[in-house]
Amino acid sequence: MDSSVAQYLERYGVSEATRRFLAKPQKMFIDGQWLDSSDGQTFAVTEPSTEGLITRVPSGTGADLDRAVAAARRQFDGGEWRRLKPLERERLLHRLADLIEANATELAELEAIDMGKSVSQARDVDIQGTIDTFRYFAGWASKLHGRTVEPSLPGNYLAYTRKEPIGVVGAIVPWNFPLQTMAWKLAAALAVGCTTVVKPAELTSLSTLRFAELVQEAGIPDGVVNIVTGRGSVVGAAMATHPGINKLTFTGSTPVGRNVGRSAVDQLKRVTLELGGKSPVLVLDDADLAAAARAVANGVFFNSGQVCDAGTRAYVHSSVYERFLEELVAYTRTLKIAPGLDPDCFISPLVSAQQKDTVMSYIAAGQREGARLVHGGKALEGQGYFVEPTIFAHCHRDMSIVREEIFGPVLVTTPFDDIEDALTQANDSPFGLAAAIYSNDLGRVHSLIPRLAAGSVYVNAHSTIDPAMPFGGFKESGFGKDLGPEQLDYLMETKAVWITLP
Ligand code: NAD
Repeated sequence: MDSSVAQYLERYGVSEATRRFLAKPQKMFIDGQWLDSSDGQTFAVTEPSTEGLITRVPSGTGADLDRAVAAARRQFDGGEWRRLKPLERERLLHRLADLIEANATELAELEAIDMGKSVSQARDVDIQGTIDTFRYFAGWASKLHGRTVEPSLPGNYLAYTRKEPIGVVGAIVPWNFPLQTMAWKLAAALAVGCTTVVKPAELTSLSTLRFAELVQEAGIPDGVVNIVTGRGSVVGAAMATHPGINKLTFTGSTPVGRNVGRSAVDQLKRVTLELGGKSPVLVLDDADLAAAARAVANGVFFNSGQVCDAGTRAYVHSSVYERFLEELVAYTRTLKIAPGLDPDCFISPLVSAQQKDTVMSYIAAGQREGARLVHGGKALEGQGYFVEPTIFAHCHRDMSIVREEIFGPVLVTTPFDDIEDALTQANDSPFGLAAAIYSNDLGRVHSLIPRLAAGSVYVNAHSTIDPAMPFGGFKESGFGKDLGPEQLDYLMETKAVWITLP
């Protein structure tokens, strides 16, 4: 660990448990064993506010993946896991949720140190969301069932359906909500009786490796959860084509997801893709402007804008546009820019130098293309990948900042006169992950909801997420759902059984 990182941990007094974990050599978790990469290679993990080295993580290989898939297969094809009764799976998942809860402070600190995010947001959102997701799906383990059918064809039959776990599930996870996104994939898969191989994003493996220790402590049999750390182009790409993986669940960018999906479908592997977004926000003339401005700012600047369903394009009625901008800028000024471990941090550094460069190049493009910069726009001087929360006004549909996913703290705003025009612009995107409406006119809100091409629609709020509600995009934001009972269908096969009766 670099001294800059050690001093940073010292300054914010991180827990003894976190220090102990970070001081250990990091290993992958395969078949219940802690292993180096088969070729001994590792990659560096950097802390985003100091740019210092935290530790090194094994850079997995195809051979490591083979080993993980073989372990998961063994457990699925008649291993101890497969023989557990539903209530026993349920109990183990609750025990795992209890352990995550007991170690929540450490996990939130790891998330803040590794990804750079606000430790308070990590505790309240990422880790609480992870606990809730495991608890919610634990309950499903004992509530899965098929149907009994009375056939009309001549003869005498007993006909029924069985729901069966799909097999070995491969999960490829992005870096913006490392543990929570993993939980979105793993909890439901384990609840239905699948076994799993997880590849965390190379930028953010640490909380997932600590989680693996809790999997072991919970008594989940070896080989049911395997964590292969490594590069997307090596481990991720190999997962997409691995014949031992029955179902691939991917969260990440649309270009990578498209390739992963293509490889998976080529083998007729089941696949769920949770991809990028450029979510529109409609602010109508009757909205409570101060409340809407706060919610819109929170909805785009949370996690420094590194959120797939962030509300990044605001279409605001022209009669309230200038007032809305004033409220928005005034509230945005109150958001503290600080290192993630600062308990009052709202705007944390971006995850990497590359992400900062990408965001800054979009901000420059916005100015070049003629958008009016009304707040922010600069990277902070000195160490760390900090970028100010940035607001553009009078944006036009042809600008790259309006069309493309930036994945940083950048909001583009556009006034509208006619709601039909606003709807057309809102839907004029290849993405369709989420949308939001700010209005107290229920009639207008209800008439707009069905016309927005988005997997989630939030009204007078943004990114309200609950494990009981499905999450997933329309159009190029992907297909399939995470969360909610809907997710279970993507993890089980339905078998139709016909029994001829005498
Ligand atoms: P990314 O696509 O670069 O990487 C995602 C994961 O895929 C990582 O684990 C990476 O290692 C792996 N990967 C990279 N190349 C691969 C390849 N060739 N084959 C297989 N796997 C590969 O995305 P990211 O930069 O980590 O995350 C940001 C993106 O994720 C944004 O576009 C964001 O919108 C999207 N995202 C979507 C959701 C959602 O639920 N829809 C949630 C979070 C993030």
